[in-house]
Amino acid sequence: MKVMAINAGSSSLKFQLLEMPSEIVLASGVVERIGLDDAVFNIKYSDKKVKEVCEIKTHKVAVDMLLSKLVDLNILGSLDEIEAIGHRVVHGGEKFSDSVIITDEVLKAIDEVSELAPLHNPANLTGIEAFKTALPNVEAVAVFDTAFHQTMEPLSYMYSVPYDWYTKYGVRKYGFHGTSHKYVSLRAAHMLGKKPEEVKIIVAHIGNGASLCAIDKGKSIDTSMGFTPLAGIAMGTRSGDIDPAIVQFISQKENKSLDEVIDELNKKSGYLGLSELSSDSRDLWTAANKGDEKSILAVEKQAKMIADYIGAYFLALNGCDAICFTAGIGENAWETRKLVIDRLGAIGVVLDYEENLKRGDERVISAKESKIKLLLIPTNEEVMIARDAVRLIK
Ligand code: AMP
Repeated sequence: MKVMAINAGSSSLKFQLLEMPSEIVLASGVVERIGLDDAVFNIKYSDKKVKEVCEIKTHKVAVDMLLSKLVDLNILGSLDEIEAIGHRVVHGGEKFSDSVIITDEVLKAIDEVSELAPLHNPANLTGIEAFKTALPNVEAVAVFDTAFHQTMEPLSYMYSVPYDWYTKYGVRKYGFHGTSHKYVSLRAAHMLGKKPEEVKIIVAHIGNGASLCAIDKGKSIDTSMGFTPLAGIAMGTRSGDIDPAIVQFISQKENKSLDEVIDELNKKSGYLGLSELSSDSRDLWTAANKGDEKSILAVEKQAKMIADYIGAYFLALNGCDAICFTAGIGENAWETRKLVIDRLGAIGVVLDYEENLKRGDERVISAKESKIKLLLIPTNEEVMIARDAVRLIK
């Protein structure tokens, strides 16, 4: 069974075509700069790569181009071979605690939640509509970033604010990166030789966006992102947790609207804000290694925030079996892992410094005497999307 896993952004469309249940990737790639004359179409298949720069005005055009390439490049004999499509959808609100087959009712519900994710859900819907037009007879499922966290108790998801903010407007913690947290926690249980129901796991998904998750017996019990993906630890351009009164203070001092200040917290803070250099971890580590003080502060601040969350989740879980690192920084930046782990000695964590230097593959990076296993697990959201598509459509 061939399944398409799709992640549509406002100007991009990431795709992966998988053979299921073997989970072999037949093709993968991304269309970027959709809407522009010089959009970029990238596809990888077998050991080949094709890149084309051309006008791609809409997601519909991108999808048509992708589908014809799959046939033209002989990746598929015909489009009839695609039996299911899985779409990543960022926000499912409280309505979706699992993936669902997309119906008109589901589309309406995703649209209604758009108020909570105005940048993401409309883009996700555009991708869904484009495939619906191109392949009207192929069933599609929506896989929500928030769904995995719907197991949180009110104690974790309620903010201590007027209660009717929740009842009237849905103000609560939703959490994101759920598909990644779930995948990594399942791999972690496998690496520990146990069932997911038998383990307590902390996952640190540290990419451009970053979040921590505490997982007890396979269920998310708390996570660091909140009502929006701005909360939690410092990220590439996002501040993570701050005193909310700063928003009003800066708005008055700089004569900016609340929207403008929040925009700065989303786009000009985190690594970029503190370092005044870059939002990219590689740039910061290059500068930090040359002694750039602001870059050192930026990476150390993030590491402290990650370690503080791990400490809190260690208590919330009443101990844990493994701490996992994933996503761009978690998988690749050994320096950041070291900074974080060196702060965790009090809970009995010991790093194997040699193993930590290696990159890429799934592996144990804790020393033998460590009381908690440290695991490096490359995330794979696409495979989770494809698995859910197969599970629901079968
Ligand atoms: P993601 O959002 O998961 O794609 O992660 C993006 C982040 O991962 C960026 O800050 C990159 O600088 C970082 N990253 C990717 N590859 C490396 C690497 N080899 N070393 C350090 N950081 C990396």
